[in-house]
Amino acid sequence: MEVDMAGGYVMNIQDFSVNDGEGIRTNIFLAGCPLTCAWCSNPEGQTLQNAMTSYMTVEEVTDKVKKQMLFYRMSGGGVTFSGGEATVQQEFLRCLAGRLYDMGISLAIETCGQFAFEEVRDILGKMDLIFYDIKHMDAGKHRTFTGISNEKILSNVSKTARLGIPLIIRVPVIHGVNTDGGNLERTFAFVKKEAPLAKLELLPYHTFGEGKYAELGMPLPPASFQTPSQGEIEAWNEAARKVGIETISYR
Ligand code: SF4
Repeated sequence: MEVDMAGGYVMNIQDFSVNDGEGIRTNIFLAGCPLTCAWCSNPEGQTLQNAMTSYMTVEEVTDKVKKQMLFYRMSGGGVTFSGGEATVQQEFLRCLAGRLYDMGISLAIETCGQFAFEEVRDILGKMDLIFYDIKHMDAGKHRTFTGISNEKILSNVSKTARLGIPLIIRVPVIHGVNTDGGNLERTFAFVKKEAPLAKLELLPYHTFGEGKYAELGMPLPPASFQTPSQGEIEAWNEAARKVGIETISYR
């Protein structure tokens, strides 16, 4: 599907968000994703066009964002690009980020890291904050649960860190996927080595998106996926801090 620079496919534009960056923010969820994570809470973002996405022009998105400028200024907030994977619609994202950057709006992005770094470097360079997901350290298990290997995702971590933009590594924590075999401890060691200044946010698995699966005619995530307890999350946060990583939570 060709997407021109005038617009692209949007899942949702959510005002008054406080979970993905500083202050009061607008989250722009762009459709399309190279992964098919079995636990995805935004499965409508896995394809560009479906019953839950709509085409919007850069102008339409910008006009909507403009109405929230006062809230960004008052709260130190801004706009967070999310998805899906926002870099899939690269030209649309580039246009939007450029336009909002020129308006003086603080920008953040949530990414799964599966991108050609040199192609998106200029876009990332406009961000004040980058959230970067690491889902599994084992390439085979990564492929099993997300549909692709983790090779490019892991190699892009250090490249992204070297941009010098505040970086938060996010790990969805899911029993039945990535909590066994020392995987989280390996993740922390990797982060410390490849992105020494990055902070870490552990995101416990949730099932809030399950209603969308029925709407899209998709099978639900396996029942074997389980949410860790608050105590377990705190213990893993403590393990990360022990290797010198600052932990954070926007939730
Ligand atoms: S990377 Fe995010 S949006 Fe894409 S499939 Fe995985 S959880 Fe869903």
